[in-house]
Amino acid sequence: MAATTHPPTPRTTSGSLPKTMRALIKSTAGPGLTLVTDRPLPSGSTGKPGEPGPNDVLVRVHKAGVCGTDRHIYEWDDWAAGRIPVGIVTGHEFVGVVVRVGSAVEQVKPGDRVSAESHIAPGHDYNSLIGDAHVARNMQILGVDRDGIFADYAMIPQSHIWPVNQDIPDKWAAIFDPFGNAVHTVMSAGVSVKSVLITGAGIIGLMAVAVAKAAGAQQLFVAEPDPRRRELALKLGAKKAYNPLPKDKGGQGDDWVKEIKSTVQGEGVDVLLEMSGNASAIVQGFRAMRQGGTAALLGIPSKSFNFDITEHIIFKGADVLGINGRQMWQTWFQMERLILAGAVNLDDIITHELPFEDYNRAFELMQSGEGIKIVLDLNGPTR
Ligand SMILES: [Zn+2]
Repeated sequence: MAATTHPPTPRTTSGSLPKTMRALIKSTAGPGLTLVTDRPLPSGSTGKPGEPGPNDVLVRVHKAGVCGTDRHIYEWDDWAAGRIPVGIVTGHEFVGVVVRVGSAVEQVKPGDRVSAESHIAPGHDYNSLIGDAHVARNMQILGVDRDGIFADYAMIPQSHIWPVNQDIPDKWAAIFDPFGNAVHTVMSAGVSVKSVLITGAGIIGLMAVAVAKAAGAQQLFVAEPDPRRRELALKLGAKKAYNPLPKDKGGQGDDWVKEIKSTVQGEGVDVLLEMSGNASAIVQGFRAMRQGGTAALLGIPSKSFNFDITEHIIFKGADVLGINGRQMWQTWFQMERLILAGAVNLDDIITHELPFEDYNRAFELMQSGEGIKIVLDLNGPTR
């Protein structure tokens, strides 16, 4: 690339930027997050706060989604303790407006509304080169491995910036990251005119219900212990929603698996979309799937567990797909199309919008189960 064809200095909309910003950081190796007001602006490859390197984009963050990953970091579980660098700015789901771009940035300009793919692939590694950047090794995730977006400003490589279509509302654009998980899972499995079981109706499971419906799933079943989420799954297009807990815990035990099998040709569903990461739900899900079915697994079990590969995969002739992140950029185009076509409405899944300062309340709402998707407002509407 001929760098000389680009302006030598970063381009910006407004002259000067503040020296410091608000940021929600992981200040100690323990539970909780700290909101600071004196964080220097992020620096790109220049190392200077607020100054993008040639390929960097400085974004003012307007709205941000709170993810289950953020909750792990907030609660400081074993995964977080083993991975998160103390001092990091957290958060990875957002919509914002470009304020400065590096000299080699051509895709966006100051004033553009953007989101970003939070999984930053090295770009020159084997998987990125062959079109599998979403599973690149040495991936750096915003707000996990490097500074994220729970802050007034974030620095993002232009290779991972996504320009947001003008007809997509801010709060939906802010949650394209988890929406992309749902779309990638559904589209990888293929659900058109198929019977589909979704185990786990959390944020992504509920999104998957809406996406599977939009993508032409014919019979859509959901297994989820929480009655309110089952209700919402039905509203979003599920034909039936079951409580998979044991009978002594108020659930239907294994009866629902038998019911699904008898409903679908006596065989079971064509497709399992596993969104819970729960060991017994995974086993039940495979039991409810027909011989030769397809299982796409997104939920992450908290620890290893016994799973009979012979019964559930080999003799079943099952196709099993591990799903991670979103495909760059196919999933993003699919998301945009689904929303612009009016095929998916995310309003029912976004239960709360809170000011940035109320982040503790956001995590409490997630912990109690009252909140499903929560969006934090950092700098008001983008326009
Ligand atoms: Zn997320």
